[in-house]
Amino acid sequence: MSRAPFPFAAIVGQEEMKLALLVAAVDASVGGVLVFGDRGTGKSTAVRALAALLPPMLAVIGCRYGCDPADAEAWCEDCRQRSAAGELPAHHVPVPVVDLPLGATEDRVVGALDLERALVRGEKSFEPGLLARANRGFLYIDEVNLLEDHLVDLLIDVAASGENVVEREGLSVRHPARFVLIGSGNPEEGELRPQLLDRFGLSVEVRTPADLASRIDVVRRRDAFERDRTGFAEGWRSQDAAIRARILAARARLPCVEVPDATLASAARLCMALGTDGLRAELTLMRAARAVASLEGSAVVLVPHLRQVAASALRHRLRRDPLDEAGSTARVARAVEEVLGP
Ligand SMILES: [Zn+2]
Repeated sequence: MSRAPFPFAAIVGQEEMKLALLVAAVDASVGGVLVFGDRGTGKSTAVRALAALLPPMLAVIGCRYGCDPADAEAWCEDCRQRSAAGELPAHHVPVPVVDLPLGATEDRVVGALDLERALVRGEKSFEPGLLARANRGFLYIDEVNLLEDHLVDLLIDVAASGENVVEREGLSVRHPARFVLIGSGNPEEGELRPQLLDRFGLSVEVRTPADLASRIDVVRRRDAFERDRTGFAEGWRSQDAAIRARILAARARLPCVEVPDATLASAARLCMALGTDGLRAELTLMRAARAVASLEGSAVVLVPHLRQVAASALRHRLRRDPLDEAGSTARVARAVEEVLGP
């Protein structure tokens, strides 16, 4: 077991990022989260903190993909076969956070088929990659804008379908790969193509806090954490537990949360005012607002829920200067005020 991670509840400020991560934890179908910001703003800390806060998951013992024994539809081939012989043994494991390093080969990411063994011995042999380890958890890419476009495309495809398919020379292997994709980027170090930007569900901006009190809190907490991780985590345990309870309640409530036509109309007007292409923007805005409503214990999605996620759901889908973050944030804010009122 690794050392105690920084508690999610102890993260100072960064409200937009925290909300986006909570939304993704409640409803993974919003699509991944892009986190833009300077180095040292705690992007990867926040993802790790969130994963550590989630309850451990029940996984089939010996399964390379950590299949959920209760979710037969998502089982891998091995689990299907093993289940025929009786109940699958299971144990609790932490929700995985897998780092995708820059420069990782495609084989390392998707897994490698051993063609030689297949040809010589007629055995299908597959070495699972990072996507297998990320199943049911988070895949974190630092500096996603420096990753090759085709790899980013592939990751988004797998995240959307929940399945990784590897095909080489007529051989094919498929396995479950359901994960929340979190990409961090520094807009000054290379751009993501607009087509790729648009495929991420939410985008958020993180900054070093500008006010004195927050900066003091950041330094104090970081210092206390590094001197005594266990003690620090203990001090924040009940606040973290409260967030965990909120996430679990929101997940349970989500299927019953209603989206009235009037809310959808507001979302559509907002997207029209901003000139976003296609329906992806509206769909994401609706799903994110529904997750927020659920987190707040509301049975209905209303305009205030739209407001809270409008910038995250839309700023990376604007046509001009998609990476001019300050500009696009201001444009979304203006449209929100015009369409939804001040
Ligand atoms: Zn399995």
